Amino acid sequence: MLPFKLVYSDAYYLPIGNHVFPAEKYRRVHDRLIATGVAGPADFLEPEPASDQDILLVHKPEYVQKLKTGTLSPREEMEIEIPYSRDLVEAFWLAAGGSILAARHALTDKISVSIGGGFHHAFPDHGEGFCMIHDVAVAIRRLQRDDKIRTAMTVDCDVHQGNGTAAIFAGTRTASSLLPSVSGATLQHPQGNIGGKMREAHAGDVFTISLHQHNNYPMWKPPSSIDVDLADGVGDNDYLAWLDNALSSGLRQFEPDLICYIAGADPYQEDQLGGLNLTIDGLKKRDELVFRVARARDIPVMVTYAGGYAQDVEDTVTIHSNTVIAAKEAFAP
Ligand SMILES: [Zn+2]
Repeated sequence: MLPFKLVYSDAYYLPIGNHVFPAEKYRRVHDRLIATGVAGPADFLEPEPASDQDILLVHKPEYVQKLKTGTLSPREEMEIEIPYSRDLVEAFWLAAGGSILAARHALTDKISVSIGGGFHHAFPDHGEGFCMIHDVAVAIRRLQRDDKIRTAMTVDCDVHQGNGTAAIFAGTRTASSLLPSVSGATLQHPQGNIGGKMREAHAGDVFTISLHQHNNYPMWKPPSSIDVDLADGVGDNDYLAWLDNALSSGLRQFEPDLICYIAGADPYQEDQLGGLNLTIDGLKKRDELVFRVARARDIPVMVTYAGGYAQDVEDTVTIHSNTVIAAKEAFAP
């Protein structure tokens, strides 16, 4: 038995047909974890879909109405880049429910992983980049509404910037959540300003960190609390140094009640939609770093998966499975 819960449903599958997004990856990660003995059937919890009320904590009523009635305009549908269907809407409501469940269990067990979710390109009033509903934001707002948490920090390690996350949480402010600031100090890469640039902006009750390839979708990157704009081709060592730097800076400024880790598999060197150069081993070290930092500071972590478009889907499945193995190692009793 794992010392924490995995959240999964076969209905996480996104019915989008033959698409660069490998929607079957969730089931394959689930099956791999069981086949390799990393987890057993009893380690998994089956989520319920989020309620409309939960979704409305983040998304505009007009947008939710359009999703539920199939009345998106052709332009709005094109922007999501996956074919609209009622079944697809249900899969996104379920992903949001899964993130809520994982966030709740993170608070009791210190960590929980949803074998899905991480749809960080969804905005309050529209979807983008394969993301219809921002499941992580819905989970944060639901736990805040239930008085389970006051503050949260998103740590987004997908290769694409978390534009939806940044837009949703921009300017939401609880004064007491901010620690005395390091007053806009420019943070340096330990070995000098190599292969990237770190930008800092104002934080609210949710502190957002995004490490991403600068020269990639989304073109317009609304400011996160910390953005690390990485140059093309950044590899394991530089990436890990930047991540370490961003986490230290974020946690110097802000004390979150929950970390929401978005563990995208697409910084991988063989990703079709990414231009960074991380190895499978480097990606596992990335997961370990986030988990070690969270455990050392006793901050609960909920994990979601986001993107992963490796030439060989098996590599994406390995990277996502390794996230659970890294959690198992880092949170061993
Ligand atoms: Zn991505």
